[in-house]
Amino acid sequence: MKRRSFLKGSAVAGVTTLCGAGTAKAAESCMPTLKAPAQSAQLNLCLQWNKIPGGEMNQKLDFLEANGFKAVEIPSGKWPIDNCDAMLKAMKGRKLTLATACGPSNFAYAEEAKREAEVQKFLPIIEALGKMKSVGLIICPARGKLSEPGWLSGKDLRKDFVENTGRRLAEHAHKHGTSIVLEPLRRNETPFLRQVADGATIARDIGPGCAVMGDFWHMQLEETSFLGAFISGGKLLKHVHIAGLKKRIIPGVFPEDNYVDGFKGLKLLGYRGAVSFEGGWPKDPANPKKSVAEPERIRLIKNMVKLLNEQWAMA
Ligand code: MG
Repeated sequence: MKRRSFLKGSAVAGVTTLCGAGTAKAAESCMPTLKAPAQSAQLNLCLQWNKIPGGEMNQKLDFLEANGFKAVEIPSGKWPIDNCDAMLKAMKGRKLTLATACGPSNFAYAEEAKREAEVQKFLPIIEALGKMKSVGLIICPARGKLSEPGWLSGKDLRKDFVENTGRRLAEHAHKHGTSIVLEPLRRNETPFLRQVADGATIARDIGPGCAVMGDFWHMQLEETSFLGAFISGGKLLKHVHIAGLKKRIIPGVFPEDNYVDGFKGLKLLGYRGAVSFEGGWPKDPANPKKSVAEPERIRLIKNMVKLLNEQWAMA
């Protein structure tokens, strides 16, 4: 018998000796033990700007602080540039952090000039986010079928995003103390980036200034395990979106809204980023063409905060 195959055989035999007794206790002694993260995780609940009750900037931030939120998510586009100084002033002295800026993006245009225009559009937005100490700019690298002429797809798109568009945005973000945060979507929205692990790999390949996020709504269709998906994001996981799992509305309306498995993954990572509600409102039973009005929205927000805190404790 050759030395290598002898060693292989011995290793297997050794495992059999240790774990072979067949009892549950013996099996337990063979289980890997998980190391607690250096810093324990925190549930930092967050709302997107247009979901926060109140009209004026300070009213919205007051609402968040008074109702158990720890972070705020703002719109992308021109919003961060136009509101940078006012936000810096309004956030001063508050126990809130500025999570991400969220808005549309697409880097799959086959025409180089269009991709370049998209990069140029985001550079000043990134600078404003850096000034506000935001976690980063959410980027969905490519949307649509990407199969018609006019779009990059597959390895060409990945190569261009990793080596050109995505990398330049990430480098700019890193220079300004923030990041770009890649968001995996559903298959009907993009064939390019659908899973947290894939986003983490792209972020790793791009390097400093690039991170990944997970959105429970997309993840439930695209991932086999919330826990597994979050763990595969590892240290690169910087943001989480959450919505009802049966319907993309505020969590807590349907009994299917169970996030315990995902929260376990976040706890194992020592995750301290935001968990931000992204979704709609239920319809008003009295007027089914319209969403519920503000008093009911406030009740639903409070209900969500209670539910998510309970499920975080259970995880
Ligand atoms: Mg999302």
